[in-house]
Amino acid sequence: MAQQGIQLDREKLSCSICLDLLKDPVTIPCGHSYCMNCIESCWDEEAPKQTHSCPQCRQTFTPRPALVKNTLLADLHLPEFHLDLKLNCSRWSSS
Ligand SMILES: [Zn+2]
Ligand SMILES: [Zn+2]
Repeated sequence: MAQQGIQLDREKLSCSICLDLLKDPVTIPCGHSYCMNCIESCWDEEAPKQTHSCPQCRQTFTPRPALVKNTLLADLHLPEFHLDLKLNCSRWSSS
């Protein structure tokens, strides 16, 4: 059910691998989200073991799940980035 709504807290928009804001966010089958690059390289390392696990909840996936870009999360970032941009711009122009 989609009754929980979208929480805009930074934790939800952060990648637990690089601890930065999600870049090209993808959501894996357990529901956790990572940067496309982070989870790809994480799973590349695990590839010889034939397991692909979630770094957060340790759920394992076999075969490797297809990564689908989470456009919802990607869209959610935009206001924050624009806000940062604006703040930076006004700081620069006033100095
Ligand atoms: Zn990341
Ligand atoms: Zn997980």
